[in-house]
Amino acid sequence: MLCNQCGQAVPEGAAACPNCTGNGREGRPDAMRAGLAGGLKGLFLGLLPVIVLLMEYGGEPGVKLLAFAVPAVLAATGFVLAYLKVGRKG
Ligand SMILES: [Zn+2]
Repeated sequence: MLCNQCGQAVPEGAAACPNCTGNGREGRPDAMRAGLAGGLKGLFLGLLPVIVLLMEYGGEPGVKLLAFAVPAVLAATGFVLAYLKVGRKG
C-alpha cells in the first residue's frame, strides 16, 4: 500500500506512514535544538545594539518598545532560519 500523502510504500498493518510520521514536520528534536540555538544567537545579537540604544536614548519615548522589539524579532528570525536549515536536510 502506498501513502496517499508522500507516495512512499507503507508496511502492511502500519497505523501510519513511517515516512510521514518519522521524518515529517513533527518529532524533529534536532531541528528544534538548532532553532533554539539560533534564537539565542539572534537574541544576543539584538541585545547589543539595544544596550547602546538604551544608554544613549533611554529617556526617549518609544525606545523601550524598540528595545523589546529588536531582540524579539531577531530571536524569532534566528529560530526560524536555524530550524528550517536543519529541518530541510531531512
Ligand atoms: Zn507518507
